[in-house]
Amino acid sequence: MIDGKAIAAALRERVADVVSRREHGPGLATVLVGDDPASHVYVANKRKACEAAGIRSIHHELAADVGQAELVELVAALDDDDEVDGILVQLPLPDGLDVDAVLAEISPAKDVDGLTPANAGLLSQGRIGVAEALELEPQAPPLGLIPCTPAGCVELLHRSGVEIEGAEAVIIGRSNLVGRPLASLLLNANATVTACHSRTRDLDSVCRRADILIAAVGRAEMVQGDWVKPGATVIDVGMNRTEAGLVGDVDYESVAAVAGRVTPVPGGVGPMTIAMLLANTVRASTASASRKSA
Ligand code: NAP
Repeated sequence: MIDGKAIAAALRERVADVVSRREHGPGLATVLVGDDPASHVYVANKRKACEAAGIRSIHHELAADVGQAELVELVAALDDDDEVDGILVQLPLPDGLDVDAVLAEISPAKDVDGLTPANAGLLSQGRIGVAEALELEPQAPPLGLIPCTPAGCVELLHRSGVEIEGAEAVIIGRSNLVGRPLASLLLNANATVTACHSRTRDLDSVCRRADILIAAVGRAEMVQGDWVKPGATVIDVGMNRTEAGLVGDVDYESVAAVAGRVTPVPGGVGPMTIAMLLANTVRASTASASRKSA
């Protein structure tokens, strides 16, 4: 079992150490729209982790029926605010709100989710990656920021001693938040990458080719033991709330019997997402420090 909690705790400690040497703690603004219970839990956990690391949490909650203009205005004001180093708009937004228009108000330097086209482009060109994301005290303002969950997955692979170079990596899911940036990160690390999605044929046989299999689908326990090559590493990004509680996209029991390594849910990718968010916020604060002194 890959212990995401322990690997994340080590990174959170590094962040807290860097922040403790600062006169003014970095500030992360979170924007939560609507009343989706899972989103409320995720944002509460992110804010708690910020406070534990000495990062100031600036939180805004809006009703599900908020107008597009009001939401855009809030995000634009946060982007102009010198006390705010990073901005996270919790996704998904309620139906009817245009996520691209909201993200367009976030400067790439404050985009701690790595979702703006500028940051996504830098990642897809291989100009930013996990090594930079873990550099908490960069000499110069960071060139860009990468999405937290994919960065966390790759760091879990590194910390578990998994060889990425030359490996067959199969990702199920191609969202802008997880699947696509993961494909770029693994390709940039010289894996041979296959990105699967809802139209992929013979998904189970594609998965059986993988040395590294990553499930980011949002379908409870879809990946079964007989989808996995013996000895493969399986990373489960999924977070599905079922009557039996929180489960991943991977059927843990049958997969653990075949795989060489597997992440649990909870306690795998989730804690890494939060730790990488803190790291991105500290890196973003280096950019704002240099903006202020300019
Ligand atoms: P998403 O935007 O809904 O994307 C899901 C992807 O899965 C899509 O690309 C979709 O294909 C693909 N898919 C859906 N059904 C499929 C099927 N039957 N076979 C193959 N592919 C299929 O979801 P997301 O935001 O990437 O999140 C994925 C999961 O990760 C969710 O459970 C989410 O809660 C979880 N998550 C966890 C964390 C964490 O910190 N642990 C962070 C983010 C997300 P199409 O593109 O063809 O529609």
